[in-house]
Amino acid sequence: METVVLKKHYNIKRVQRITEARNQIKKWKREGFTIGLVPTMGFLHEGHESLIKRASEENDKVGVSVFVNPTQFGKNEDLGSYPRDIKRDEILCKQAGANLIFNPEPSEMYYKDASTVVNVGGLTEGLCGAKRPVHFGGVCLGVSKLFNIVTPDRAYFGEKDAQQLAVIKKMVKDLNFDIEIVGCPIVREFDGLAKSSRNTYLSLEERKAACVLNKSLILARKALNSGERKAARIKDIISEKLGSEILAKIDYIEVVDSLTLKPVENIESSILVAIAVYIGETRLIDNFTFKA
Ligand code: AMP
Repeated sequence: METVVLKKHYNIKRVQRITEARNQIKKWKREGFTIGLVPTMGFLHEGHESLIKRASEENDKVGVSVFVNPTQFGKNEDLGSYPRDIKRDEILCKQAGANLIFNPEPSEMYYKDASTVVNVGGLTEGLCGAKRPVHFGGVCLGVSKLFNIVTPDRAYFGEKDAQQLAVIKKMVKDLNFDIEIVGCPIVREFDGLAKSSRNTYLSLEERKAACVLNKSLILARKALNSGERKAARIKDIISEKLGSEILAKIDYIEVVDSLTLKPVENIESSILVAIAVYIGETRLIDNFTFKA
């Protein structure tokens, strides 16, 4: 029989209804507790775990939302096949120090005649926004709703989704959400592949091939460290490395200003180097920042 050893025992409550989540949060707030929120789509891994642990260090109570948000998926994307395992997620949340899991059904979050959109201009135009036109509208709508339901003091997002982090920060500023947005570093597999729930889509052969994303970024960083300042050259270095892997198909390679997310030609300040690559049918993303 398989036994799960809990490192520490925390009480954790899983709720599916908005009113249940609100009541719990209100109770905690009356008791004077601060609240951290970690929004996720579930099928949790060590990347999510690092966010939950950080939230639990910095807040009295931590809520994790596990919600595969339908509005952020395009028509031909993987909403139906996205991996789900709430029991496993619950164990990870418990071990990492979360106190509440909010795991609503799509019908709880979205009703038929809802008509409000949340559109952050500018930052959503390039990178993944250019390739996934409905994505950030869905992310911002879903995250705004979570912010209004949980009303956290702090919310935690991974730098793995660098554009998402920038967009959420902008949304919070523009809409005066009274929430501190905390960015957390990318957690990687032993061979450098950024951890992702979507890595489970990869066959054994594809999994090996997927290392090429991080390897190409390491080469780019080396060139930057050696003084290369032409964005085109950095993109060529990445493209060449990705091209050496037969299973990899480039979606985009971009060198952008880390604040505006606009492409740069000459690297003079803080930049984000971001890539999206198909390994077989699976679209993976990775990035790093560099300060010139
Ligand atoms: P997801 O469940 O993929 O929507 O991710 C939920 C949150 O976890 C997002 O803020 C992601 O950026 C973050 N995250 C996902 N993978 C990683 C990772 N490998 N390292 C750090 N954060 C991550």
